Amino acid sequence: MERRVFFGNFFHSLSFQRSESVLNGFIAIEDGKIVAVGEKSSYETWNHPNKKDFEEVQLTETQFFLPGFVDTHIHAPQVPNIGLGLDKPLMEWLNEYTFPLESQYKDKNFAKHVFNKVVRRTLNSGTTTASYFGTIHKDACKVLADEALAMGQRAFIGKVSMNQYSPETYVETFEESIKDNIEVIEYILSLKSDLLSFIITPRFAITCSMDLLKQLAVIADKYKLPIQSHISENLDEIKFTMELFPGHDNYAQVYDVAGLLTNKCIMAHAVHLTDDEVKLFAERGTSVAH
Ligand SMILES: [Zn+2]
Repeated sequence: MERRVFFGNFFHSLSFQRSESVLNGFIAIEDGKIVAVGEKSSYETWNHPNKKDFEEVQLTETQFFLPGFVDTHIHAPQVPNIGLGLDKPLMEWLNEYTFPLESQYKDKNFAKHVFNKVVRRTLNSGTTTASYFGTIHKDACKVLADEALAMGQRAFIGKVSMNQYSPETYVETFEESIKDNIEVIEYILSLKSDLLSFIITPRFAITCSMDLLKQLAVIADKYKLPIQSHISENLDEIKFTMELFPGHDNYAQVYDVAGLLTNKCIMAHAVHLTDDEVKLFAERGTSVAH
């Protein structure tokens, strides 16, 4: 069992409202878990049956600890395109830059090459937890899970689902989507890691039929999984969504009718939510990654 105690400066949050900075403190870690924190002066009186086995590490004056960052929305396959196409509105940007790049991840080696860098780079920046959008490809999503596991990042792995209004080279059928989602879910379960979880990931309502959205909600419920998607980033997107799903009061209701707005759901952007939609999110306990 690994036991270490670090001496130095750190800050952490005790709750959403309270943070604490500790100058000259200690953090004791046993088997990957923090077992005690406090002022260095209180270390002498700290009781632990195996205290003598803790390896002592002193931080330098310019080093400090802080809690890991949590990225609630990151598209792992898009990292090679960071900064490209910012002049384009959402739908054009997807078609010109994003879909052509994402379709390349059917090549497992390409996926490994990029995802290794993505996990390494986010960890190097202090992101210890990330909620990833992958691509539609099951093998690429397994690679992303493998990379996160190998490097010890807490990761939510999302196989993107999209069975309509997508390019011919980057689309799946309803049946393929369901089969591949379940295959990746079972794969991640087989890894038996507390750090990894699958996350149900319809790209957004436009690229999913209502049948698919509903079936994804059924799978989320069956396996008790979190959910992530996008909503109301752009006015054209909202208009098109309402045309594709007539009879709904608003965009959020499309997801709600499908059963996807749960208290384990993160919806990204939410720039143009109406008051009714905000109320619905609050009722369902759905979160926003803005
Ligand atoms: Zn996104």
